[in-house]
Amino acid sequence: MKRFDEILHNGYSQSFEVTKVLFHEKTEHQDLVIFDTPIYGRVMALDNIVQVTTRDEYVYHEMLTHVPVLAKGDVTDVLIIGGGDGGILREALRHKSIERATMVELDRSVVDLSLEYLPEISNGAFDDPRTDLVIADGVKFVAETDKRFDVIIVDSTDPIGPGEVLFTESFYADCHRCLKDGGVLVTQNGVPFYQGDEVTNTYQRMGKSFVDNGFYTAVVPTYVGGMMALGWGTDDGEMRNVDVETLNQRFQAASLTTRYYTPEVHKAAFALPQFIIDLCI
Ligand code: SAM
Repeated sequence: MKRFDEILHNGYSQSFEVTKVLFHEKTEHQDLVIFDTPIYGRVMALDNIVQVTTRDEYVYHEMLTHVPVLAKGDVTDVLIIGGGDGGILREALRHKSIERATMVELDRSVVDLSLEYLPEISNGAFDDPRTDLVIADGVKFVAETDKRFDVIIVDSTDPIGPGEVLFTESFYADCHRCLKDGGVLVTQNGVPFYQGDEVTNTYQRMGKSFVDNGFYTAVVPTYVGGMMALGWGTDDGEMRNVDVETLNQRFQAASLTTRYYTPEVHKAAFALPQFIIDLCI
């Protein structure tokens, strides 16, 4: 393979020069390829859609983790749905307040191959005694578990294939049930410029269960099309309004070193461009 072309949107694709293919097979659930590139380092794609690159992974993993954890404060129990590469798990476990990180990943191969070919993404997080890795369908787990969580992070593939069930009204309702009072759900919700219907669908479906639901944004270069939407759902309508001073105190207390997240970026991320606001109907 000399190039990897991702065709996620009709009539448009992004193309990577490939210097080496390290793995390419169909797992029990999806087609998995891992390859090296001159510009984005090592890349993993599932069903031909870029999932993670060693060059820009920090943006997404920091924003999908530190925004809910620092907005909520005093987080002890986190549930991660998906996230097989371990990046979210790594960022979550940097918070000393977290006593248990339950990760429910459908495809064991993604974990195993990420550990083999992309170990720096999880950076030992799977071996942390606080980690509880469950290989299962996330939709089944939240429907059946009697555990409760302060934060639920859905780090899923897009709503095609195995990830589709993680964008449904019933899934969000079950996530709501699994949250402790005042807990918060955040989700990977695509790039609104191309996937506007994902914003509208999530807004309507999450709105059935949560008092305050909406989005915040981050710019991930390999999730092409401008800013990416991250879903937000909580019954604590004030959580999104935590002031920068409080976020700074929590950020300093957690002694996090980041490359994208700052308390100011956190606050700004909730200021949505009009075209995204218009999709929330
Ligand atoms: N950061 C990426 C993104 O924004 O698209 C997601 C990366 S992570 C590798 C996505 C993970 O979701 C994969 O490991 C995949 O196996 C997992 N996944 C997909 N459907 C799932 C389901 N129904 N339950 C649990 N995990 C699922």
